[in-house]
Amino acid sequence: DLVSVQTALLSVSDKSGIVEFAKALHEMGVRLLSTGGTHKVLAQAGLPVKDVSEITGFPEIMDGRVKTLHPLLHGGLLAIRDDEEHVTAMKAHGIEAIDLVVINLYPFEEVRAAGGDYPTTVENIDIGGPAMIRASAKNHAYVTVVTDAADYQEVIAALSESKGKTPYALRQRLAAKAYARTAAYDAAISNWFAEALSLDMPQHRVIGGVLKEKMRYGENPHQSAGFYVNGDQRPGVATATLLQGKQLSYNNINDTDAAFELVAEFPPEQGPACAIIKHANPCGVATGSSLVEAYKRALACDSVSAFGGIIALNQVLDADTATEIVKLFTEVIIAPSVTEEAKAIIAAKPNLRLLTTGALPDPRAPGIVAKTVSGGLLVQSRDNLVVEDLDLKIVTKRAPTPTELEDMKFAFKIAKHVKSNAVIYAKNGQTAGIGAGQMSRVDSARIAAMKAEDAAKALGLAEPLTKGSAVASEAFYPFADGLLAAIAAGATAVIQPGGSMRDEEVIAAANEHDVAMVFTGVRHFRH
Ligand code: 5GP
Repeated sequence: DLVSVQTALLSVSDKSGIVEFAKALHEMGVRLLSTGGTHKVLAQAGLPVKDVSEITGFPEIMDGRVKTLHPLLHGGLLAIRDDEEHVTAMKAHGIEAIDLVVINLYPFEEVRAAGGDYPTTVENIDIGGPAMIRASAKNHAYVTVVTDAADYQEVIAALSESKGKTPYALRQRLAAKAYARTAAYDAAISNWFAEALSLDMPQHRVIGGVLKEKMRYGENPHQSAGFYVNGDQRPGVATATLLQGKQLSYNNINDTDAAFELVAEFPPEQGPACAIIKHANPCGVATGSSLVEAYKRALACDSVSAFGGIIALNQVLDADTATEIVKLFTEVIIAPSVTEEAKAIIAAKPNLRLLTTGALPDPRAPGIVAKTVSGGLLVQSRDNLVVEDLDLKIVTKRAPTPTELEDMKFAFKIAKHVKSNAVIYAKNGQTAGIGAGQMSRVDSARIAAMKAEDAAKALGLAEPLTKGSAVASEAFYPFADGLLAAIAAGATAVIQPGGSMRDEEVIAAANEHDVAMVFTGVRHFRH
């Protein structure tokens, strides 16, 4: 199961570490072949290296689109060394075996992440590289394929330990990694296309991804876990930079995603906003005249639950906000960016994880979400409806005041990000109470009102913020009881999808209490 490495083909876009690696191969007596750019770098380092065009007798053509796509090379990668017919074919056509292949691909993902224009991005789709990687990996019985500079060391160590040979187990493992690489590469290309063409249907998307990092454990310590990424460049937890703090846990990633997707509903140019998340549900969301005010107002909704929460901000984290945040135990902060001053303040809490994303994701962007069920995956397009784009219908005698209307929209935006049944009271761009995940809408309305009363007590207010608030329900009221519970808590305006069999009954109850109600015609189930 040991195979001798006599000839290596090196073709890398990212040339870091390649000279040292090639030098070590050369010292072990391995013959080096290479493509144009890589050849140049190796030759400059004084290594004897042959250009692949000398082997093929064919120049690189079409700006490098065709360099290695040649039977004299692919035959050398794919030949079964102890198959008589294959050996005969090699002799007949002058094909030489290639035993080791070192490739990293055109930087498609980097160009995409940097926002390359359409033609530049297309030109960075590598063709010959993946072809060679796949050919070598298929023939791992004989060929060692290296697609990651992180493996150079291990390959050299294996070669020196086994006197110029590689063991089967290593070739197998590198082959598995090679296909993971080409799969991720094609996934990134396909997802880029889907994004560029605004296609959100699952058949245009790659479901799944490649392992970005292994977590110490999953939702619970006895569960194993990993974070898989699909190359989608949407600003968020997958693409964010961790500026400080430990690696994110499974629950952190889940909650941070929920937090950032929610705060992204508030465009930064319309003013600061903050969302605080616990267990994937918001426990407070608010806008403010400054970011610190938005944070304080979000915290005021439920400061007890906010302990150990995740904070998402829609604007640059500044020193004032950082100073307030560090007063309370928080797990994660995620923001588009952070000032140097704020960074220094956060640094005083080394365990607090700080993530920056560079930008906010577009809530209207297409995309897909998936969840597992036993035996499969459920896939759907993202809920990318935004209340501003909906045709709101006033269904009561009384029309909402401009302030009520603003609070209705604010509450409905949040309802989209709260586990059903979701009931959200809001006043002046601040959540007053959030009822999440109850099996009955009436219970959600009551729990939200109870939380608002607790908050009022904690803040020393004469009455809870639900008095004179707007209330949002993510799905229709099947009966008037849920609405009456909200009215009892002090809501004067209601936003809900409508469409129940008993809409008339619900509208009559609203009219009876002089409550203004609008129908969105759209619901935001989140189960
Ligand atoms: P070099 O810098 O050595 O000229 O080019 C190395 C890059 O070319 C590698 O990323 C490799 O995957 C890619 N490559 C090798 N052969 C071909 C080919 O035939 N067509 C294309 N498009 N890329 C190739």
